[in-house]
Amino acid sequence: MPSYVNPEKCDGCKALDKTACQYICPNDLMVLDKATEKAYNQDVAMCWECYNCVKICPVDAIEMRGYADFVPLGATVTPMRGSDAIMWTVKFRNGMLKRFKFPIRTTPEGSAVPDGGWDTGTDDLGDATLFTEPGSIGLPEVPTLK
Ligand code: SF4
Ligand code: SF4
Repeated sequence: MPSYVNPEKCDGCKALDKTACQYICPNDLMVLDKATEKAYNQDVAMCWECYNCVKICPVDAIEMRGYADFVPLGATVTPMRGSDAIMWTVKFRNGMLKRFKFPIRTTPEGSAVPDGGWDTGTDDLGDATLFTEPGSIGLPEVPTLK
């Protein structure tokens, strides 16, 4: 279910050096065509389908083509971000629209604590423990093969 850019909506992020979709794509797939000032997904087969680009686009120009178990063939899916939820719009081939709202937060905006209050232990990137371990898994130390 890769993303694709609707060229009629894309404004090239008003010719910024790096567009929002280029900034956010973890796989560097988004490219801005300087001639047309439109972005495009340069390799949909490599798309992780994370939808970061879909959600960040300021003009809702990026859509997804849904798998058949999600929406019928030919339908498009577009999100609209809110502060606590995303409203997804499904547009069917015959023009029919359906919308559903999905909550995205359990805490007020800006209140998330990255470490969740756990001791963050080591900052050694070579260490086998994760950010808040071993405290967050309730053990005095992370079990490892000796
Ligand atoms: S973020 Fe949206 S408007 Fe900006 S370049 Fe990408 S598709 Fe176009
Ligand atoms: S869905 Fe994710 S991986 Fe695919 S182009 Fe958008 S940001 Fe990149």
